[in-house]
Amino acid sequence: MAPEQKQDGEPRPIQLYSFRLNELEDWVKQLGEPKFRAKQLFTWMYKKRVQAISEMTDLSVSFRNKLEEIARLSTIKEEMRQVSKDGTVKWLFSLWDGATVETVLMRHGYGNSVCVSTQVGCRMGCTFCASTLGGLIRNLSAGEVVEQILTVQRFLDQEEERVSSVVLMGSGEPLENYEPSMAFVDIVTDGEGLRIGARHITVSTSGLVPAIKRLADEQRQITLAISLHATNDELRSSMMPINRAWNIEKLLDAARYYVEKTNRRISFEYALIGGVNDSLDHAEKLAHLLKGILCHINLIPVNYVPERNYTRTPKDQIQAFVNRLADLGVNATVRREMGHDIAAACGQLRAQKEGRL
Ligand code: SAH
Repeated sequence: MAPEQKQDGEPRPIQLYSFRLNELEDWVKQLGEPKFRAKQLFTWMYKKRVQAISEMTDLSVSFRNKLEEIARLSTIKEEMRQVSKDGTVKWLFSLWDGATVETVLMRHGYGNSVCVSTQVGCRMGCTFCASTLGGLIRNLSAGEVVEQILTVQRFLDQEEERVSSVVLMGSGEPLENYEPSMAFVDIVTDGEGLRIGARHITVSTSGLVPAIKRLADEQRQITLAISLHATNDELRSSMMPINRAWNIEKLLDAARYYVEKTNRRISFEYALIGGVNDSLDHAEKLAHLLKGILCHINLIPVNYVPERNYTRTPKDQIQAFVNRLADLGVNATVRREMGHDIAAACGQLRAQKEGRL
């Protein structure tokens, strides 16, 4: 679903950042080069992080010319960058066909976490989310997601710091763009490249049950986050249309399957929306639903979306919600809000740029 050509007919470029190392090896062999060229390329791309093929000086000039002719290194362009008082940085990138996506860097005590987008827009239709308001425009290629990380890493290089964790929680549904999202994971975790630990990568899903099972069967060491947000089907279906295809029971069955297969703890996301899903009854129901599943709950005070009338849960009510969960033996933390002054929440910058905010 990534477009094959621009409106003016320019074809989609071969993106070097979309190749896993083994794929790059096959590709250079097809070009008549020895396999080890791929590792050289990988080193220039991910360790030296050069921005032009011409800088890859240990490759022959003829090979570099050939690469420049048939492939592209960088395909995304920084359109906007905003830095928050709390150190959060947000980028708006334009892609080769002019579509735009957002990326956010969050500075935590434990390291630098980056939130990447996997699709331009989203078709999930969750009522509280800004990313879905204009629908899905297109999937991102693996390379377009990789480049988001590389841009942030180059920014951090100035301070000799590293991207330590990645969350696939920007715009889009990563499990709907499955292959490129997993290629992205393989590329940034590669020992010859950026070497980000798989355990420090979180893939968040609105609840695509078959894809959760596929992920479980692949036994990757990544963290799975599931956006739950409601404790009964009527409410969840009204907030998240995907619940009509796979309801809470099916979703939690898939979650149990995931834990059984991978032995990894699942993260459930629960956006607290004033008067909608934040009563102590909901806390009890939530604890009951998740009982016996190896998990952690991330409570997210809902971010403002102008098209919706949602209000936030007051602080003391949030604390009461957390306490009730704790009394019932369920682990929950409240997500700290970052970058409030720069519209860092999902889809906000892109919406602003398009005049929707
Ligand atoms: N499509 C994936 C990942 C992207 S959204 C998913 O649904 O999980 C990342 C997280 O932010 C999800 O839990 C999503 O439900 C949540 N989210 C979206 N809009 C929000 C808002 N306005 N306030 C709080 N959380 C929000």
